Amino acid sequence: MPFTLYARLLILLAAAPGASPAPVSPQGRVTILYDAFGDDARLTRDWGFAALIEYGGKRILFDAGNDAAVFERNVKALGVDLERLDFAVISHRHGDHIAGLNYLLKVNPRVRIYAPREAFGVFGSTIPGTLLRSDSALSVKMRYFSGAHPEEFQGGTPWPAADFTWVDSVTQVSPGLFIVSTVSQTPGTLELRELSLAIQTPEGLVILVGCSHPGIETILEASRRVAPHVHLILGGLHLVSTPDPEIARVSAALHDQWKVDFIAPGHCTGEPAFAALLQTFGSRYLYAGLGTTVPIP
Ligand SMILES: [Zn+2]
Ligand SMILES: [Zn+2]
Repeated sequence: MPFTLYARLLILLAAAPGASPAPVSPQGRVTILYDAFGDDARLTRDWGFAALIEYGGKRILFDAGNDAAVFERNVKALGVDLERLDFAVISHRHGDHIAGLNYLLKVNPRVRIYAPREAFGVFGSTIPGTLLRSDSALSVKMRYFSGAHPEEFQGGTPWPAADFTWVDSVTQVSPGLFIVSTVSQTPGTLELRELSLAIQTPEGLVILVGCSHPGIETILEASRRVAPHVHLILGGLHLVSTPDPEIARVSAALHDQWKVDFIAPGHCTGEPAFAALLQTFGSRYLYAGLGTTVPIP
């Protein structure tokens, strides 16, 4: 159920009786380039996530999908020019968010890419030499680097020529654009670092999430350092195999406790969670299937 600006204007007016009706004109938009649901016949559905954000004159790629060839096909079918990007953000190291980097780097090899700082991830961040305890009594040939431990060493990456900037805290990357870093405590993705993109808008934060492995509420908690109110969450909420009672709890918490205005779930949110969020958010549920464009205020 696509959500029109007109319907949104009605809701805003209804929610603010007596307030002067501010014109709702979107400042930007998010286009879904990669996902496994949607009905645009020009596009190939596949598991994974990628989105293009156009906001305040900036063009940002968020994640790069599961397969570089599918990513390339969808990008071309949607007429998206990846040579013109201000920067890219990769949310986390899972294959369904990074594989399209091989296509991105082919068309735009020097683009700045914000990626999670992880000691032995796939983005090649530096590792402190202090990680290695030393034993100077050992013979030289048994010692790492013949005993000359480096202060730090470089972690390997499949994309050594890429211009990665590693992030491990809340970081402003451009006026009004923040990267929020969280770490998963969830079994299965324990210690995985994930980056979300928070955009400051006149209506509150618009937060793009890849998979929300640390939990969407953990991401919202961390985003409070940027701004208190969240206008829209867009992306994967990782409730694909979560039991119904927990889905219901998260759905209600987003609406009632966190007072999130709009939700545009995609990717690993899961079908039962799509249904629960639609029930909870009603007309404030924004459909965000593959090929959809969601306006940002
Ligand atoms: Zn993931
Ligand atoms: Zn994923």
